Amino acid sequence: MGGDEGSRIPGFHTLSPADRLDAVGRRSGLGNAGKAHLLEAGAPLTELADHLAENVIGTMNVPLGVATNLIVDGEEVLVPMATEESSVVAAVCNAAKQCRETGGIFASWTGPRMIAQIQLLGVADPHHARVKLLERRDEIAALCDSCDPMLVKLGGGFRDLEVRLLETRVGPMVVLHLIVDTRDAMGANAVNTMAEKLAPHLEGWVGGSVKLRILSNLADQRLVRARAVWRTETIGGPDVRDGMIAASAFAEADPYRAATHNKGIMNGISAVVLATGNDTRAIEAGAHAYASRSGRYTALSRWEETTDGDLAGTLELPMAVGVVGGATKVHPTAQANLKIMGIDGAERLAKVIAAVGLTQNFAAVKALATTGIQAGHMRLHARNLAITVGAEGEEIDRVAAALIERGEIRQDVAESVLSEIR
Ligand code: NAD
Repeated sequence: MGGDEGSRIPGFHTLSPADRLDAVGRRSGLGNAGKAHLLEAGAPLTELADHLAENVIGTMNVPLGVATNLIVDGEEVLVPMATEESSVVAAVCNAAKQCRETGGIFASWTGPRMIAQIQLLGVADPHHARVKLLERRDEIAALCDSCDPMLVKLGGGFRDLEVRLLETRVGPMVVLHLIVDTRDAMGANAVNTMAEKLAPHLEGWVGGSVKLRILSNLADQRLVRARAVWRTETIGGPDVRDGMIAASAFAEADPYRAATHNKGIMNGISAVVLATGNDTRAIEAGAHAYASRSGRYTALSRWEETTDGDLAGTLELPMAVGVVGGATKVHPTAQANLKIMGIDGAERLAKVIAAVGLTQNFAAVKALATTGIQAGHMRLHARNLAITVGAEGEEIDRVAAALIERGEIRQDVAESVLSEIR
């Protein structure tokens, strides 16, 4: 394949975003309308996007909604959420409203300590090496801190050292963990730089050869916790409360259920992470790895009855987010979103995100334990179908309403309803 066909486009990366779009358009039959859409939708941010990623032809817009009603640690906060999934933002608003009378959500965190890993292979005497490395703690601290004087000036930097010995199918490994306070940054680049700087010294000190030098996304020294109480009378009575507790127990006991339970939590969390220009994959990886820490995958949250007979929800997970570094500082939408939340530090951001995760979970578990989620979802699905078949303006609501009334939420029915209306 070559010419204007196939996936090989020599020099693609050297083109401007507009020329890349032309090249992709020629190969894919995207057409002028598709090209015009990408140009128009992406225009204001294409230049920035071209610096953030590679082979950029435009940007992908995702709906940005604002969750209302949240009180986190006694302070009211409006939370922008970037998500393409319907019901996610509404669910947080709803759940947050129902716990305002008990003060909203309370959160705490362990501080911004990231872990970087260095893998050493072929060390003859791993136990000896471990003790020798731990002896050099101060030297290692100084080497790490010399990588990022700015971070040290801000009160961050090297905090601790761990050396682990792993038995693997390619033999024993010595794995060094650098524990670093990354302040208001997510810290991936900061700790990776330290790990790379330290690596050559390790071989000199204990022998063997250094291979991987990279942070761990299981950021279990950077946990955030959220808790809230919902009054039983507010949420619909003891049956609702007990149904939610049973739903929680189901997710705690069964990985099949836990995966979906946690996905619901991440619906809220990833939306705020994305809205603030943070790394959604890092947060997702950390959350699911943390959910498996006992050796069996389980729920990230717990729902219990309080001594007063109310419903208490708690959530705990790693939260490696920042307000500097990565795309957070350079993306104007991320900056605007932080401003909407009134946030200028990683601590408050982590806490607000955990609060969103907990309220999101409340809404999903409550819906599942009572009416089910399909009624609400199908209403939104009906609107999507109406748009899919070409309804515009007020036609969208009319077609959606007709589909719901007929109890037939299908594309062919939407098409015939639209033509009847017209
Ligand atoms: P960065 O490289 O821009 O570094 C941020 C710097 O900000 C720090 O080195 C520190 O000196 C400084 N800083 C910290 N607190 C500050 C404050 N309060 N005021 C001013 N400066 C401050 O960014 P990063 O956070 O190290 O890296 C994040 C990026 O790395 C993300 O884009 C992420 O996607 C990417 N990444 C992730 C992984 C992974 O998750 N596995 C791996 C590699 C890269």
